[in-house]
Amino acid sequence: MATAGKVIKCKAAVAWEPNKPLVIEEIEVAPPQANEVRIKIVATGVCHTDLHHLSECKRNDGFPIILGHEGAGIVESIGPGVTEFQPGDKVIPLFLSQCRKCRFCKSPKTNQCVEGWAARGYDVLAAPDSRFTCKGKKVLQFMGTSTFSEYTVMNQMAVAKIDPAAPLDKVFLLSCGVCTGFGAAVNTAKVEPGSTCAVFGLGAVGLAAVMGCKFAGAKRIIVVDINPDKFEKAKVFGATDFVNPKDHNKPINQVLHEMTDGGVDFSLECVGNVEVMRSALESCVKGWGVSVIVGWTNSHDFAARPIQLMTGRTWKGCQFGGFKGKDGVPEMVKAYLDKKVKLDEFITHNMTLDQVNDAIELMNRGKCIRTVINVSPQ
Ligand code: NAD
Ligand code: ZN
Repeated sequence: MATAGKVIKCKAAVAWEPNKPLVIEEIEVAPPQANEVRIKIVATGVCHTDLHHLSECKRNDGFPIILGHEGAGIVESIGPGVTEFQPGDKVIPLFLSQCRKCRFCKSPKTNQCVEGWAARGYDVLAAPDSRFTCKGKKVLQFMGTSTFSEYTVMNQMAVAKIDPAAPLDKVFLLSCGVCTGFGAAVNTAKVEPGSTCAVFGLGAVGLAAVMGCKFAGAKRIIVVDINPDKFEKAKVFGATDFVNPKDHNKPINQVLHEMTDGGVDFSLECVGNVEVMRSALESCVKGWGVSVIVGWTNSHDFAARPIQLMTGRTWKGCQFGGFKGKDGVPEMVKAYLDKKVKLDEFITHNMTLDQVNDAIELMNRGKCIRTVINVSPQ
């Protein structure tokens, strides 16, 4: 490859400071170092976690940064020591690494690998170093990925190789939103056949949770969103009942208790709002109800009365739907190619990287599920 070993100058959307539009800039992407691969990003989505960083990260060491963590691409070149990847491989970047060596990777119970950017904590969603520079300044790599760039460099332990037949402008959804919601239902809640579920929030994450509940055999799937425009789409994924909190003048957990003779078996919070997390827990039936926190926030504490748990409810959370990325993502790609899970139905808009601020605006206004941003032509 003509570019291997050289600095690549390319286009990226840079977040220079919080709460400001991203700026399309020419950046420099250094060659991959030991155990790293440089990836040409083909497609990316905007996930709400990108927007949380833009609006919630108050620390000035969280900027400038290249956002985007839901993407798919092609390996451009590899650094020394990389054996698992070749230029030309189709890959999905993982915001949670899988080193396969740490005690967490060795346990089947979790996907919380100790390696990667997350090892440094969650105050700033980036490690201090990156391979990006722009106008002479170091630019941070968001969640170890940064898919709002034509090229990115990642450690091989945070990259999943996928079937060469996979369409990258669809399977990018498995890099975050769809695995997150689907896995939260299937892996973390462990939804049971014949059960009643409630899903709060119907973005891509919540809709994927609905799909997961249906996949696991739930009989009734109640969806809750303050934006009723989302209900039509939720039906496509298997929702059976629709609740808009704005239509009720009592707490939503009370509404759900009345609808279900005492509460749902499983609930999933896919909003990122601590009040909704509490409602989701309190919507569960006593005795065995399980509530899973999927939505992200880093700026508020949650609360609930201890009696909610003492009477037999379980409150859990997960990242990336509990999937170990290198193992789980290729399996989910296969499930899509075998038509066992849906992806196309999540995509409502199609744009280029230059339009990334429009895609962010659509999400902020609740007007999209996912916009596919075609970063580089395939
Ligand atoms: P989104 O913005 O597309 O969807 C959020 C939905 O929640 C919208 O439909 C909105 O109308 C609805 N909503 C807002 N307030 C509500 C309320 N009070 N009650 C009911 N519904 C309400 O976002 P998304 O990309 O689907 O992400 C959802 C959440 O999941 C975000 O918090 C995101 O950061 C988080 N997330 C977590 C992980 C993880 O690993 N745990 C990964 C990806 C995303
Ligand atoms: Zn995400």
